[in-house]
Amino acid sequence: MKNKKIKNLLIGSNNSGKVREIKQLLPKYINIYTINSRKIKSPKETGKTFLQNSYIKSKYFSKKTGKICLADDSGLEIDILNKKPGIFSARWAGKKNNFNLAINKVFRELNKVDKNWRKKKVTARFICALSIYGPNIKKIYSIGKVEGRLSNKKIGKNGFGYDPIFIPNGKKITFGQMKFKNKFKIDHRAKAFSKLKKFL
Ligand code: IMP
Repeated sequence: MKNKKIKNLLIGSNNSGKVREIKQLLPKYINIYTINSRKIKSPKETGKTFLQNSYIKSKYFSKKTGKICLADDSGLEIDILNKKPGIFSARWAGKKNNFNLAINKVFRELNKVDKNWRKKKVTARFICALSIYGPNIKKIYSIGKVEGRLSNKKIGKNGFGYDPIFIPNGKKITFGQMKFKNKFKIDHRAKAFSKLKKFL
């Protein structure tokens, strides 16, 4: 059976920044459900790729609730750090999801590999792997990327996670300085969503 347009959808994430952005990217006709993080904890992300981890989450939350579930696994790859933090992007922020810690760790790791990194172009990208799992759903997934470089300091209060240190190609400001309506025209998550249009 071919996949039809989905009308009811659970967002399989306990990350409030991500949930907020995903809600705005979904078509208005969809009834959106979110997870009560006190009732359902997130699964262990044991995959080796963004896509594997995305499936672990969509399958887990779908099985727990019986609903069709959309999950996002995403993160920041920094080339001179051998693509770290990558799939460990959330884990670098620790149990309390503290992105000051995560960004400080990025700066520490960069200092270890090149003391002069602040004067150089440090290339990086955000990647987003989306997957949908549910009763009567055949594999649905997509991947989106946005290329850019790191800012040498944190700038901007918008967005979440590593947004204050990421400058997308062609722009002079970080995602943290951008309004959501502008971030969402070019970012990894919006690109991954646009590939799912026929299902959503
Ligand atoms: P996970 O997909 O839940 O494992 O977490 C992905 C992590 O990557 C998030 O907690 C953020 O730190 C980071 N991340 C993913 N997408 C974005 C984004 O659009 N802006 C900033 N950070 C992001």
